[in-house]
Amino acid sequence: MKQVDLKKQNKILTIVLVCILSVTIVVSATLFGVFYFDYGVDPEIPTEAKAHNFILLIGDGMGYNHIKTAELYNNGSMTNIRKLSVNGEVTTRSLSAGATDSAAAATAMATGVKTYNGRISYLNGKSIPTIAEQAKSAGKKVGIVATKAITDATPAAFLAHSKSRNNTAEIAAQLASSDVDVLFGLNNAEMTALKSTIQSDNRDFCVGFEEINASASDKIVGLIDDEIPNIGRNTLASLTDLALEKLENENGFFLMVEGSKIDSYSHTNEIQNMIDELNAFDAAVSRAVAWARKNGNTTVMVVADHETGKLKVPADATADQISNEWFHSSSHTTQNVHYFAYGVGVDSIPALIDNTDVYDIIKQILLG
Ligand SMILES: [Zn+2]
Repeated sequence: MKQVDLKKQNKILTIVLVCILSVTIVVSATLFGVFYFDYGVDPEIPTEAKAHNFILLIGDGMGYNHIKTAELYNNGSMTNIRKLSVNGEVTTRSLSAGATDSAAAATAMATGVKTYNGRISYLNGKSIPTIAEQAKSAGKKVGIVATKAITDATPAAFLAHSKSRNNTAEIAAQLASSDVDVLFGLNNAEMTALKSTIQSDNRDFCVGFEEINASASDKIVGLIDDEIPNIGRNTLASLTDLALEKLENENGFFLMVEGSKIDSYSHTNEIQNMIDELNAFDAAVSRAVAWARKNGNTTVMVVADHETGKLKVPADATADQISNEWFHSSSHTTQNVHYFAYGVGVDSIPALIDNTDVYDIIKQILLG
């Protein structure tokens, strides 16, 4: 009689335990789901780590297969980009239908806000504050480096606000009146017209590598008339070195470096030129990481704004088979791109982020 009661009690106890366990699992899963999906909207990077300096490198149009193609061409040796310790994927959609353009994508990364294609850190009649402006307000230095016109969408979105990426004169005027410390990129008539505004007692306006390399000023707008070569002395990597040299200071800095023409040659399906641009960008990444290793207290993040050209690498392809035919589009695509990161706080970056999260990550790690 007593034995039966005990068995019954055990059975009830088991049922109760199973119920408690089930509820715990459901609640945990729900909480995990809520927090996990929250990352895509507004990630709280679970780190107290703070970096003094943040270097963001953007490969325009650089999908994962662009990197794989360059590695295949480089006899299988891994790019510096992929050697960074942490990596994951990035969603890139803008508020416009279809694929994002560089203006909306750069706005997302510079401000944490999604906008429509063509807008420069601007939405519904309002300017949106950028991470570069906020870094400036916090007493840090700011540098922007690009391999196409400095008024183009990606560099512009960090310092200017406009309803259209095509408002070159308006963007140039805002770059000139910004308190940016280092600005390197291609020249145009709109920037040249602002020479007297830009040149001041403490800021140099230089045109050409000779003037840029000769300048002793830590505050400099240095523009190139023709193009920035991919090899030799005056490359994106050397401009990155020079920018870092000028930006280093006790309050820290934010530097954005863009490999702008990876996108251009993906639009035109010129794979060899794309590889050359990617390798030049990869060399700039290597300088940024070397600087961070040497100086410490720095975070380096490499991202792309979107994929261009629907590039596919055939299975078992060899370097001598690399072909323009590997591109399957002349436009931007909606594919996720990848991020790669090194330095302070990067272990806490989720494996899947949205492009707006790039802003949150920089803000949390650099500005707290
Ligand atoms: Zn493009």
